[in-house]
Amino acid sequence: MPLIRSWLAAANTPDCPFPLNNLPCGVFSHGAEAPRCGVAIGDMILDMAGLEKAGLPGLAGPLFDVPYWNKVMAGGPDLWTKLRRQLLDLLGEGAVRERVAPHLHPMAGAVLHMPFQIAEFTDFYAGKHHAENVGTMFRGPENALPPNWLHIPIGYNGRASSVMVSGADLRRPWGQVKQPDEATPRFAPSERFDFELELGAVVGTPSHPGQPVTVAEADTMIFGYVLLNDWSARDIQAWEYQPLGPFQAKATATTISPWIVTRAALEPFRSPAPPRERPLLPYLCEPGPMNYDIGLEIALRPEGGDETVICRTNASELYYSAAQQLAHHTSSGCAMNCGDLLGSGTISGPGKASRGSLLELSWGGSEPLAIEGGTRCFLEDGDTVTLRGAAQGDGYLIGFGDCSGRILPALPDPYAR
Ligand code: MN
Repeated sequence: MPLIRSWLAAANTPDCPFPLNNLPCGVFSHGAEAPRCGVAIGDMILDMAGLEKAGLPGLAGPLFDVPYWNKVMAGGPDLWTKLRRQLLDLLGEGAVRERVAPHLHPMAGAVLHMPFQIAEFTDFYAGKHHAENVGTMFRGPENALPPNWLHIPIGYNGRASSVMVSGADLRRPWGQVKQPDEATPRFAPSERFDFELELGAVVGTPSHPGQPVTVAEADTMIFGYVLLNDWSARDIQAWEYQPLGPFQAKATATTISPWIVTRAALEPFRSPAPPRERPLLPYLCEPGPMNYDIGLEIALRPEGGDETVICRTNASELYYSAAQQLAHHTSSGCAMNCGDLLGSGTISGPGKASRGSLLELSWGGSEPLAIEGGTRCFLEDGDTVTLRGAAQGDGYLIGFGDCSGRILPALPDPYAR
């Protein structure tokens, strides 16, 4: 698939994350304006609310009278295809510019908001290198992968209320911790606060109670993808996680990138799953390639310092795709809703430089990681973590926009009143 040329010249350069091939969905405002839906194109944002009021793109609506994409997402794959086709017409080379130009706003200076209303949030654990690394540290190399791991996309139900958009600061959490050499637990600020590099899948079409969906059906239900940082307090996690999994360790915050990159934009980048070490049960088998070749990186910047890229990896490392996760999620009869968000699990690669969390990069804090002007075992106050991702096309990129968050110091004892 080559670059689709736009009459906006900035969209046609090979390093632009938002060419016409992409058309990701966000919510934006400038100054005191009300937030509204927009589509990124080159260095501009196309105001979908303004466009709809002007009678374009001429779909049955209104779809854009609300500052989130859920109405479009609920419309299903036929509507998504129609909308994409119309935007390709309006912004493609040879289009009548005058109809669209009044609805284009500079991306520079725009505030980006949550792109959709999150129904529920589930976080999976579908990266094999990550699961092996963490399992080795927590339980030893003999028990690194739990016995079910090669058969089930393991997940837990997270909190939709914890999800925030890129750019929002978050506070170091307090929690219950107990080191192995301590007799009793303490309530204290987390000293092992961490990030996790993940891909988030955004569900558009709902499924129905009592009706499991196939992997192929699940794939068509997914509207698009975001980058996702599943902030994790490792000391809280280590003490609380058995037997029901992480709880407060993952409830402080989850940051997503501001643009939903649609499944259609990622279609040319499908890639096969890694080799299966055990045959999967038939309900989990993929009818075709369901992973995506998306280059990913993590940058860490201390307060007032320079950024260091500390990890480079690829979304194709995931052992289970989002479609498999979604199908598994419905296998009990659990209904999925428009606006559900599925985190992939940390996407580590095989090498040291491709590990997607500080827990792995510093090997549990035993091997401090070198960054510009210092070292890190876990995050310090003032640190900014930025996830970036892009699929490399033939002369163009499909970018996600930065997924960024900064750590503020813990509050004074929150129960001391
Ligand atoms: Mn996670």
